[in-house]
Amino acid sequence: MTKEEWLLEGQTLFGKNILQWKFKCPNCGHIATVADYKKAGAPESAVGFSCVGRWLEVTKEAFDNKDKRNIPCNYSGGGGLINISPVEVDGCRVFEFGV
Ligand SMILES: [Zn+2]
Repeated sequence: MTKEEWLLEGQTLFGKNILQWKFKCPNCGHIATVADYKKAGAPESAVGFSCVGRWLEVTKEAFDNKDKRNIPCNYSGGGGLINISPVEVDGCRVFEFGV
């Protein structure tokens, strides 16, 4: 989809306040709001692209199926070898919305 369609979908789901938008990590399933990313100190570019766990002290390795802790992982959709983000926006793979 295009970025416009994607933004419209987000607005339909969560309203105009982007801080309340939720994204689901395709690796660990953790759902984080944009406010959560901000609080963790993540850059805006990381939202919907990398798991919020990358900016948290307690995190687990992405793709480590043995780690069953219910915490966010350090998955990144950028620069990594494997991008499993399911939604394509203007040719860029991003997280699905966390509904
Ligand atoms: Zn994750």
